[in-house]
Amino acid sequence: MTAPTIGVLSLQGDVREHLRVLTALGADATTVRRVGELERCHALVVPGGESTTMAKLARTFELFEPIQARIGAGMPVFGTCAGMIMLADHIKDGMAGQETFGGLDVTVRRNAFGRQVDSFETDLDFVGLDDPVHAVFIRAPWVDEVGAGVRVLARVDGGPSDDKVVAVQQEQLMATSFHPEVDDDERVHRMFVDLVRQNA
Ligand code: GLN
Repeated sequence: MTAPTIGVLSLQGDVREHLRVLTALGADATTVRRVGELERCHALVVPGGESTTMAKLARTFELFEPIQARIGAGMPVFGTCAGMIMLADHIKDGMAGQETFGGLDVTVRRNAFGRQVDSFETDLDFVGLDDPVHAVFIRAPWVDEVGAGVRVLARVDGGPSDDKVVAVQQEQLMATSFHPEVDDDERVHRMFVDLVRQNA
């Protein structure tokens, strides 16, 4: 395969950072706001931002159902933070009637770390990577429940209660609670680009 075309859903959120990392990794990275743009992509990144707004804009731009259909047809998708929420089959602490694209057999809790610690940074062990990843969390969700086919890639220390799942993969879908695009570290995106190449 030549460079895979990887779209970044560009309705809202931190689009530019993802485009930069994907381009650095040799992908043909492109913004997606229209169905025609989605159609030419092999894969999609759903960025961080605000999941309620993103869901509404996806409806307005008539992308909601086309994205769901592509996920159902096996398109690789990587969701970060709000993007993780958008990929979850079930959410907690969502707005009334909040919609997600779904596809990932997980329950994700929005704004899970609470107000006091709603943004923080920490180093995480990440399955498949030799050295820890420096993870930036911004009003982040965590994963409360994972289905049988879901691989946990990273957890964060949840204090006395237990560790919280913050990165998962299910076949061609990947999601992180944190923002790997804000750092110079390209390894998490590289895992996704490798996944895209394997699925091509
Ligand atoms: N709290 C946001 C939401 O619920 C996600 C925050 C983020 O993407 N940085 O959508």
